[in-house]
Amino acid sequence: MEKLEFKIIFWGVRGSMPVPGPSTLKYGGNTPCVQVQIGEKLIILDAGTGICNLGKELIKKNTKITGHIFITHVHWDHIHGIPFFLPVYKKGNHFRVFGERKGDMGFKELMSLMMKAPYFPVEMDAIGDQIEICDIEAGQRIQLSPGIVIKTERNNHPNGGISYRIEHGGRSFCYVTDTEHYKDTIDPLLKNFIEGADIVIYDANYTDEEYNGLCGNPSRTGWGHSTWQEGIKLVRAAGAKKLVLFHHNSDRTDKELDIIDAQARDVYPDCVTAYEGMQIIL
Ligand SMILES: [Zn+2]
Ligand SMILES: [Zn+2]
Repeated sequence: MEKLEFKIIFWGVRGSMPVPGPSTLKYGGNTPCVQVQIGEKLIILDAGTGICNLGKELIKKNTKITGHIFITHVHWDHIHGIPFFLPVYKKGNHFRVFGERKGDMGFKELMSLMMKAPYFPVEMDAIGDQIEICDIEAGQRIQLSPGIVIKTERNNHPNGGISYRIEHGGRSFCYVTDTEHYKDTIDPLLKNFIEGADIVIYDANYTDEEYNGLCGNPSRTGWGHSTWQEGIKLVRAAGAKKLVLFHHNSDRTDKELDIIDAQARDVYPDCVTAYEGMQIIL
């Protein structure tokens, strides 16, 4: 099997809502979107506002664009960029978008709701063949091409959510965001899921102090997010390698993220804090 270049590019790293402004210039204010490029294969994880800049870059190539978009869940910060992702409006392009159904509603219906009038002037169906929306379930495995496998696992998050693991040529990368750790035990599903991975992107929305309601903070227990300290515990328990702190709290300034970055690397040197424009080659 040919071993292709495996590259990860960060277009949006912020949680909850976009936060442009002078205090977020270094790490960026767009909500989650990560491009995974394996040779010519384009894989996009989440379609937060970060996907808009990715779209502008893709469209410059002026060739037919095809790709797979995997959505963790339909909270706004993870889907809000789809109606503004320019390549879906250009005939000949094709994107297959995967996400989880909820009860009676298939993923297509869930995604279409956000583009219904009067909330948005273009309905999902009016986009045409460029977008194809498919259901995916936690636990499902997709063979994207002979050498590329996508695996999925369940997150612990209000309204649900899934993590993705992408494997190619003996290398593996996990995207684990919008999940809350358990108080007394490491999440057994996620520990197993990220086992031995080369890179793990993790929901570091809070610090332990914020999560536990110390230093005058209200407790964030049950809000569906985790901490950078729990990310380190998880990758250590699973024997995974590089940890990427992600889904930065929307209130967090660049200065505060610099402090977290230094504290986390002190404890776990193979750790980076994601910023818009960051690239990692596996
Ligand atoms: Zn989120
Ligand atoms: Zn969420």
